[in-house]
Amino acid sequence: IKLGVPKESATGERRVALDPATAGRLCGLGVEVLVQKGAGGHAHFPDAAYEEVGARIVGTAAGLLKEADLLLKVQAPSEKEAKALREGATVIATVMAYRHPEVIALMRDRRLTCFAMEQVPRISRAQSMDVLSSQAAVAGYKAAIMGADLSCRFFPMLTTAAGTIRPATVLVIGAGVAGLQAIATARRLGAIVQGYDVRAAAREQVESLGAKFIELPIKAEGEGGYARELTDEERAQQAEALAAHIAKVDVLISTAAIPGRPSPEIISQAMVEGMKPGAVIVDLAAEGGGNCALTQPGKTVRHGAVIVHGPLNVPSQVPLHASEMYAKNLFNFLQPMLAEGELKPDFEDEVIARSLLTRDGAIAHEPTRELVE
Ligand code: NAD
Repeated sequence: IKLGVPKESATGERRVALDPATAGRLCGLGVEVLVQKGAGGHAHFPDAAYEEVGARIVGTAAGLLKEADLLLKVQAPSEKEAKALREGATVIATVMAYRHPEVIALMRDRRLTCFAMEQVPRISRAQSMDVLSSQAAVAGYKAAIMGADLSCRFFPMLTTAAGTIRPATVLVIGAGVAGLQAIATARRLGAIVQGYDVRAAAREQVESLGAKFIELPIKAEGEGGYARELTDEERAQQAEALAAHIAKVDVLISTAAIPGRPSPEIISQAMVEGMKPGAVIVDLAAEGGGNCALTQPGKTVRHGAVIVHGPLNVPSQVPLHASEMYAKNLFNFLQPMLAEGELKPDFEDEVIARSLLTRDGAIAHEPTRELVE
């Protein structure tokens, strides 16, 4: 097959679906790899590096789309891409179907086979294909760095001739994949770190990173290792207990999310007003609306003496490593489907079946079908 890697078309997207090393591995499996000129530019993978491993550079997006049997993308294909691919071609991307219903309908009508990486089930066998985890780890790391950068304080304790500086205190709300990486990074920078989550299982993970776990009586384990939404009563209880902790920290990183729902609002305006002067909130949940009432997605705002930062598409800000990790996830997903360089997915396989979005003129994924049709 001919596998195409286009330049990502979404504004501000700096990642690329395939790095040269992974492209080389696919070439070794008998796949013909086509890369659009400059596709890896923002991630600092020059065209020559792809050519060195046996890939071919194609001058334009149109040329690439016309030839490709399989398109690898970071973000969902655009309408233009879905129209330009030949009928029956396959697309693998992080689709987030609810944001692009019109593209899904188009892929269905053009009989494209589309796999959505975010739908890969989070079972042990598929851990190496889990793009949500790999990209959340990147975001968590970067959130701690952003917090340190925006803070008016040092993270580490410093003992200098000009006196001893006390380390900063960082609180991470939501200790999932991103939160744990934020905790680990803030710890490495020398801060005193606390973690909080509604899942009891998070305690051990937070503590194993050398942070203190804030224990509240609310337990909200949902399905599949995720959290469930809190009741109004639980939310009020949580707010009251957390306010005292939030008032004492220098940097607050929030990552709380519920699958398929807007981000829960955990940090109210009053809580922000109770924070220390110069305190910083990095709201990684901004993508889903934010965990803080004052978050403006994509912006950095000041409320009194507190900075509220709501970054979007954070993995794209560490494009080289984020792309390498993403490419490895794609390779691990794709490799079992390849037989002598041809694409032969076993649609009975759980991982493949659950990530399948469109095929043969139909939408295979039920919640997406309900949304689009
Ligand atoms: P996520 O991005 O959906 O949520 C981030 C965190 O926010 C979660 O830990 C969640 O419990 C927390 N949260 C939600 N509401 C909250 C609230 N009101 N207050 C405080 N915290 C709140 O989750 P994620 O990081 O993608 O994954 C969460 C879980 O899934 C973890 O247990 C993780 O280990 C597990 N996981 C398993 C696999 C696998 O087995 N392959 C892969 C990835 C993640």
